[in-house]
Amino acid sequence: MLRTRFTETFGVDHPIVQGGMQWVGRAELVSAVANAGALGFITALTQPTPEDLAKEIARCREMTDRPFGVNLTILPAIKPPPYAEYRQAIIESGVKIVETAGSNPSEHLADFQPHGIKVIHKATSVRHALKAQNLGVDAVSIDGLDCAGHPGEDDVPGLVLIPAAADALEIPLIASGGIADARGLVAALALGADAVNMGTRFMCTVESPIHQNIKEHIVGADERSTDLIFRSFRNTARVARNKVSQEVLEIEARGGEFADVKDLVSGQRGKTVYETGDPDAGIWSAGLVQGLIHDIPTCHDLVHGMVSDAVEIVEERLAGFAAVQTA
Ligand code: NAD
Repeated sequence: MLRTRFTETFGVDHPIVQGGMQWVGRAELVSAVANAGALGFITALTQPTPEDLAKEIARCREMTDRPFGVNLTILPAIKPPPYAEYRQAIIESGVKIVETAGSNPSEHLADFQPHGIKVIHKATSVRHALKAQNLGVDAVSIDGLDCAGHPGEDDVPGLVLIPAAADALEIPLIASGGIADARGLVAALALGADAVNMGTRFMCTVESPIHQNIKEHIVGADERSTDLIFRSFRNTARVARNKVSQEVLEIEARGGEFADVKDLVSGQRGKTVYETGDPDAGIWSAGLVQGLIHDIPTCHDLVHGMVSDAVEIVEERLAGFAAVQTA
């Protein structure tokens, strides 16, 4: 067992988080993560309406009696969702942990905190993490350049961003981006984090509700097979490299605007990748850790294997180095 401020604060067995992933964070995956003793997040905007979100939360509760949370991300959107209505659905559902991301969490906090909901805010820079701490969030998830999805515009990888955030913050810190195994978990804890967040690694599990071809595609991909799109729109996103991401980069290089790529990149189109198993059907998210993923385990085997391997790394490999030094 690994006990940290994170496991104490959020009432879970293991310092491992399955972060919000558009189209992937559904009840099947989140309940399996919860039953494995880690903290999973249903992704609010994956559900077409706030009523559907309420049903998805109820469905997850039927599959687990352990804690789980809901992710609510506010980023530029082609058709902005009714965020306040999604927030209300979360509050009425009785879920007590929320992961916010994308923009300033203050409007969320004003709604969530009076209902006793703990908020983890995902930030991509130390200054935004500090701001979230000052606003009163319960924990920060710090997302380095290595991550899938939106890494921000500062391009600071986890090896520097995690300890920089740990130095600056007093609240529990979750390291996100670039982590897929026990080595990443031990490294993140050594850098000052209290837990790790993983997305791509959880996409590639038995219970992940995406097409088997995409899981096998991730297993076959290496750490070079992603692209950073939307850089010229200051909404950078790390995505799996494919025909569509390459076309988007060409349009951006020619000075194109968002309107020129809108139909290529829409989330509705990206969703068909996960439904049909065609990795070139649209834009989909994947992190650099693709290069570290070689299997498709159950969530139970993934979480328990990571924790026991992490303990072994600390007690044998690292303790062995310390013993040599002090001998
Ligand atoms: P979408 O179809 O509205 O947009 C597709 C992509 O284009 C997204 O990355 C979006 O941020 C970006 N985008 C949209 N308008 C833009 C603009 N004017 N300028 C620059 N970039 C723009 O989004 P979607 O994929 O259907 O997702 C729906 C919602 O969920 C959006 O608000 C999106 O930001 C959010 N989201 C959540 C997660 C998550 O993991 N929770 C991940 C990605 C996106």
